[in-house]
Amino acid sequence: MKADYEVGIVGAGFAGLAAALRLKKGGRTSFVLFERAAELGGTWRDNIYPGCACDVASPLYSFRQALNPAWSRLYAGQPEILAYMNDVVQKNNLRKHIRFQTDIVQAVFQKDVGGWVLTDRTGNSYSVRLLVLGTGPLNRPHIPDFSGLNAFRGKHFHSSQWDSSYDFTGKKVAVIGTGASAIQIVPAIAPIVAHLDIFQRTPAWVTPRRDRVLTEAEHRRWKKFPALMWLKREATYWFSEFLGLGFVGFEHLNRIMRKVALSRLTRHVKDPETRRKLTPNYKIGCKRILRSDDYYNTFNRQNVVLVTDPIDHFTEDGLVANGRFYPLDAVVFGTGFIAADIDLYLKVIGPGGENLIDRWKETGAEAYLGTTVAGFPNLCFLLGPNTGLGHNSVLHMMESQMNYVMGYLQHLAQLPEGTGLDIKEDVQRRYNTELQKKFKGTVWSSGCKSWYLNAAGKNTTLYPRLSAGFRRRTKNFDAASYRQVQQSVPENTKAELQ
Ligand SMILES: Cc1cc2nc3c(=O)[nH]c(=O)nc-3n(C[C@H](O)[C@H](O)[C@H](O)COP(=O)(O)OP(=O)(O)OC[C@H]3O[C@@H](n4cnc5c(N)ncnc54)[C@H](O)[C@@H]3O)c2cc1C
Repeated sequence: MKADYEVGIVGAGFAGLAAALRLKKGGRTSFVLFERAAELGGTWRDNIYPGCACDVASPLYSFRQALNPAWSRLYAGQPEILAYMNDVVQKNNLRKHIRFQTDIVQAVFQKDVGGWVLTDRTGNSYSVRLLVLGTGPLNRPHIPDFSGLNAFRGKHFHSSQWDSSYDFTGKKVAVIGTGASAIQIVPAIAPIVAHLDIFQRTPAWVTPRRDRVLTEAEHRRWKKFPALMWLKREATYWFSEFLGLGFVGFEHLNRIMRKVALSRLTRHVKDPETRRKLTPNYKIGCKRILRSDDYYNTFNRQNVVLVTDPIDHFTEDGLVANGRFYPLDAVVFGTGFIAADIDLYLKVIGPGGENLIDRWKETGAEAYLGTTVAGFPNLCFLLGPNTGLGHNSVLHMMESQMNYVMGYLQHLAQLPEGTGLDIKEDVQRRYNTELQKKFKGTVWSSGCKSWYLNAAGKNTTLYPRLSAGFRRRTKNFDAASYRQVQQSVPENTKAELQ
C-alpha cells in the first residue's frame, strides 16, 4: 500500500517549517505538516511575555533560504519573528500543507505502508513514508513543586503561558528564576510594577547583546545587494563559532569572556552586595549564557530587589523565603523548561513493537547525528538528542539536519515501496560513545548543574563541538551506515492509543 504522503512532519515551529521549506525548494510536493495548535510558530507563538526576543541576532536567527532584509532591530522581538515565520509560509505557499489542530498522539511503523501510520487525538489516521519529528526541545514548562502554591490567591503563571489580560501596573510581583526568559521579563515589567522581588537560585553569566535599531539605509542596502545581507549573516555566524571555542577547551578565550562579563557586572550594578549575589561561581558557558543589555541596570531601581534565599512555601497572599514573608499580588515563573530527555508527547512504535520513549527512559535520549534512531526506520528528528547549542543559532543545526534528511529521502525514494532504512545499532552506539567523550574538557563537564543534563547527569541536549563540524558531518547521507528493513509491528500494539 502506498503511503498518503512521501513525508509527514510533526510540528510547525522553526524546525517543521525548515523541513517544509527545504522540501519545497527541493521540488518535493508530497508532504504534510501536522500542528496541534491553531497557528504555526511553536516557541514564537507560545512565548508572548513582554520583552520576548531572540538572543541570536536576527540576520542569523532566520532561514538560510529566506533571508529578511527588513528586520527592524538586530534582535527582533517575538511579534516580528512570528510575523517573519508567517511571511515565509505565505511566500512559499506552505500553508496548504499544514493541518492545524491536529495533535498526533501515535506513530506506528507498518510494513504494508513501508512507513508510518500516524493517529491524531480525534482518531484520524494518515500514512507517510518518512516521518520527520520537529516537536521542539523547549515547550514543556518546568515549575518546581512549591509547597502551598495551590493556596496562593494571587495571579501566577509560567513565562511561556503569559496572561496578557493581567495588568501588572502598581502590583507587588515576584519573578522566580533568572534564566533566559526571566532576564527579558524583568527589565520589561520593572518600570510599571510597584515592587519586584527577583528570586535567584544560581546567578547566570550575562553578556551584552548590543541590540540596536537597524536603519533604513541598511534595509535598502540589503534589499539591493542580498550578498551584503549574506555577509552580515556569515560574519555573525563565524563570530559566534569563534566564541564557542571558549566552551570547548580554549581556556584563554574562556578567561577573557569571564573577565569581560565580570567587568560589565561591576560597571552596571551599583550596589556591592547585589553585585556579589549576581556573580556566578562556575565556569562561563557551563550553564546557558544569557544575553541582555538591560538586565543588570534593572537592579539599580528602587523598586527591584534580588533575593537569594530559598523559597520555603507559598501562603494565600505571598511567599516565605528563609523565614521572611514577601507579600505578593502576582508571581511569574521564569523557571524554564524540561529539556533533557525529550518527552515526545506522542507514542512512537517501531517495527519491533518497541516504544521509543520507553527506551529513552532507560538509556537517556540517543540518536545518530541527533537525527535517526536504530530500530525506528524512516524516522528523522530535527533538533533531536544532542543537537542543541550554547553559542550559536539552532536554526543552523536544523538546516544541517535537513541537508542530511534530503539525502536520506533521495536514497529511500530509490528503494522499493515498503522498504525502511534503519541506522545500524553499532554505528549509533559508536557515534554516541564518541560524542559523550567529546564533552571531556569542555565547560559543560566542568561540574555545574544545568538543564542540559538529564536526571542521571548525562548531557543529552548539547552538541559538544562547534556547529560547523556538525554541518560537515551531516552534509552527505551515509547510506552504508543503514540497513534495509521490511518488518511489521505486532497487531495488538497498532490499536492501542495513548
Ligand atoms: C523564549 C525563547 C527564546 C528562544 N530564543 C532563541 C534564540 O534566540 N536563538 C536560538 O537559537 N534558540 C532560541 N530558543 C530555542 C527555540 O526553542 C528554538 O530556536 C526553536 O524555536 C525551536 O523550534 P522547534 O520547531 O524545534 O520547536 P517549537 O518552536 O517548540 O515548535 C514545535 C511545534 O510542534 C508542535 N507539536 C509538538 N508536538 C506535537 C504533536 N504531537 N502533534 C502536533 N504538533 C506538535 C508544537 O505545538 C509546536 O508548534 C528560544 C526558546 C525560547 C523558549
